[in-house]
Amino acid sequence: MPERISMGDAGLVVPDQPIIPFIEGDGIGPDIWSAARRVFDAAVEHVYLGDRRVEWLEVLAGEKAYGDSGEWLPGETLEVLWSHLVGIKGPLTTPVGGGIRSLNVTLRQTLDLYVCLRPVRWFRGIPSPIRTPHLVDMVIFRENTEDVYAGKEVEEGTLDAARLRTFLSECYGWDIREDSGIGIKPISVTGSKRLVRAAIRYAITFGRRSVTLVHKGNIMKFTEGAFRSWGYEVAREEFPDETVTWEDSGGDPGDKILVQDVIADAMLQQILTRPANYDVIATTNLNGDYLSDALAAQVGGIGLAPGGNINYTTGHGLFEATHGTAPKYAGLDKVNPGSLMLSGANMFRYMGWVEAADLIEASLEAVIGDRIVTYDLARLMKFATEVKTSQFATEMIERMPIIEEYAALHGTRRAPSDLRAYM
Ligand code: NAP
Repeated sequence: MPERISMGDAGLVVPDQPIIPFIEGDGIGPDIWSAARRVFDAAVEHVYLGDRRVEWLEVLAGEKAYGDSGEWLPGETLEVLWSHLVGIKGPLTTPVGGGIRSLNVTLRQTLDLYVCLRPVRWFRGIPSPIRTPHLVDMVIFRENTEDVYAGKEVEEGTLDAARLRTFLSECYGWDIREDSGIGIKPISVTGSKRLVRAAIRYAITFGRRSVTLVHKGNIMKFTEGAFRSWGYEVAREEFPDETVTWEDSGGDPGDKILVQDVIADAMLQQILTRPANYDVIATTNLNGDYLSDALAAQVGGIGLAPGGNINYTTGHGLFEATHGTAPKYAGLDKVNPGSLMLSGANMFRYMGWVEAADLIEASLEAVIGDRIVTYDLARLMKFATEVKTSQFATEMIERMPIIEEYAALHGTRRAPSDLRAYM
């Protein structure tokens, strides 16, 4: 019988038939959701042979909700996402005016989804602007609730800006130029530690080698620098058996997870020049924004970058395509469904359905390896066959039994370079 996912003492409790709410999304949302849902159901069916099944539950948000009820984000949608813990969504239009800053921001704030999870790896066959994209396999934990993104800003020329300048001058002796807008950058012990804790736990669960704290602490000592110190504190105090810092290791971390730190600007060079040195990354909100997009570009761009927003304490997780609604392509069955599909794979991984996640990734890689791609990749690849969104899903599903056969023989779903040899 379909049941809700719940939170137990040891983490998520996932029944064999979980009810998972989904938001189809605006613009290209329906195109990519219908393709992705077929792939999700097929992967679960192939791997668990009917023992597990997802009961999808549609909830409304964005233009569909506005057309239905006059509300962009109905209270009922928030309640269902709250009570069912894990959900998935397509892209949503940001309404202009109407008092809502962004539906995505509202969802993240309401559910206190403090981790923005961005796994970034290259799939064989995808055109990349770098020479060694196969060395990119990182998982970014970007803090999602603080930093200059907390929205604490006053506008230049307003009474609020004048008041704040006067206060800062009188109390701190800080002279701020009169024609300035001013933003506040809060970074807390609570926000930093829970983020780094989640990153280290992820590294432990999935056998990762290192956690790198990325910060700009050389300049902003009490925010970015403090993030670095609190991150090391979490590692030393809470995970002494599983982690080690470079200094404590004497240059050899052994089997332990290496916890290290890199300054943000150097990190943007390092991901290009030495990508193999980095694995799990824990970072503040703004640094994480830059890093996620830079890394996504290294492995194939926006159509394929998955995302998830998670609160590891309450269990809430909302997985999403990272691109927008691309309205000019809406209803054309044309765009790349990869971002939503890979976000779904990460949702299954979060639920502990790792085999289904692996099968989705392996089948996507197999199709792209055969140079069967949507328009966005076809324009960058030689000898590619361009297919529609729905056909891309069909091609993935057709390869699933072969990948399962291969997995039974070899113990891995990482697709071989030429699956046709197994057909
Ligand atoms: P966008 O929708 O991401 O589209 C920009 C361009 O990216 C598209 O024209 C297309 O490039 C490419 N693209 C996006 N998704 C693709 C896919 N699945 N496959 C292939 N190419 C893809 O960005 P935008 O035009 O700035 O934003 C449109 C709306 O989306 C806005 O209302 C914005 O607020 C919203 N938005 C929502 C989210 C979210 O819900 N998470 C995120 C970002 C933006 P080409 O034209 O070169 O083919």
